[in-house]
Amino acid sequence: MRIFACPHCGHIVYFDSPSCLECGADLAYARHLREMVMLDDDGGYRDDEGLWRRCRNERWGCNWLAVDALERAECYSCRLTRHQPGEDDTERFGWLVDTTHAKRWLLFQLDELGLPITSHREQPEGGLAFDLDASTDDRQVMIGHLNGVITIDLSESEDSHREALRVSLGEAYRTMLGHFRHEIGHYYWQVLVAASDTELEAFRREFGDERVDYAQALDTHYGTGGTEDWGAQFISRYATTHPWEDFAETFAHYLHITDTLQSAAAFGLSMSGPGTRFPEASDLVSHPSLAPADATMRGILADWQPLALALNQVNRSLGKRDLYPFVIPERVVGKLGFVHRLVGSAAHADARSANSAGASGQ
Ligand SMILES: [Zn+2]
Ligand SMILES: [Zn+2]
Ligand SMILES: [Zn+2]
Repeated sequence: MRIFACPHCGHIVYFDSPSCLECGADLAYARHLREMVMLDDDGGYRDDEGLWRRCRNERWGCNWLAVDALERAECYSCRLTRHQPGEDDTERFGWLVDTTHAKRWLLFQLDELGLPITSHREQPEGGLAFDLDASTDDRQVMIGHLNGVITIDLSESEDSHREALRVSLGEAYRTMLGHFRHEIGHYYWQVLVAASDTELEAFRREFGDERVDYAQALDTHYGTGGTEDWGAQFISRYATTHPWEDFAETFAHYLHITDTLQSAAAFGLSMSGPGTRFPEASDLVSHPSLAPADATMRGILADWQPLALALNQVNRSLGKRDLYPFVIPERVVGKLGFVHRLVGSAAHADARSANSAGASGQ
């Protein structure tokens, strides 16, 4: 995540800021500019694209701009949501604050990486949509992805509930942002891998054959807990269940790593290492960049591994568990490299099609 400058006074503002803490200016995030803009006294922002206003969902934390002419003036992120609790459902509606914050954070990163997004409004079959629903005592919402539709269980925005699930499932890490990053991995598998015979072949070489029975694979996982020696080949135990899950887990880690490197770079965080008296000193140097995905995967990991090590130690100093409780084996470096190449070529293809559309005046 980048940090932003208040357009009025220049002080730092954060991605989720609705106003500047220094000068009080009313701010909103303009996705089409990937910048924070200042609203005028009437709550509007005008540029070449027209008149914009705050998204109507500002009272549960949305600080994005919406096109003024749109019905009910919802922003791009909120318009990707297909279903959510009604406003009279106060408890569940409250869970939307954390959940939609994670969703906007995800979307910012997809834009930063240049990944294409086709909304369910443009493409009802296979377009991206979010169904935000909440489990109850007698009905369980399954978090998942199906043909462009990502379902998220809002009840997991309750820390105590999500943490209990994490412990009972034996997971090292479980967050709302992590859920979004995993599920969007399934979406991009469908859009970028399944749609291309060449990519599908390359995917099978790296992750295995996805045509094995999915339901049976999941049964085996939840029944036996997967194989014990998974650590040499997979980023998480869950990744062992099926090539689709392996890809989604790897994709999520690619997003974890590149976003955290960008956040570090935004503050100028850099590591000179623990000192030359240690033989591994030269491996523990990190100089993250604001555009980490511009490097090779090996280059990204050369900055990431020492930073993760240091951040884990920082967390331990505060009595917390590791910030990044994962080890990346050599086999997973290859899988991350696959995701990196896929993301890079999708971004270039998207930029090319945007340029040619611009050139022909469409
Ligand atoms: Zn300001
Ligand atoms: Zn919104
Ligand atoms: Zn999955």
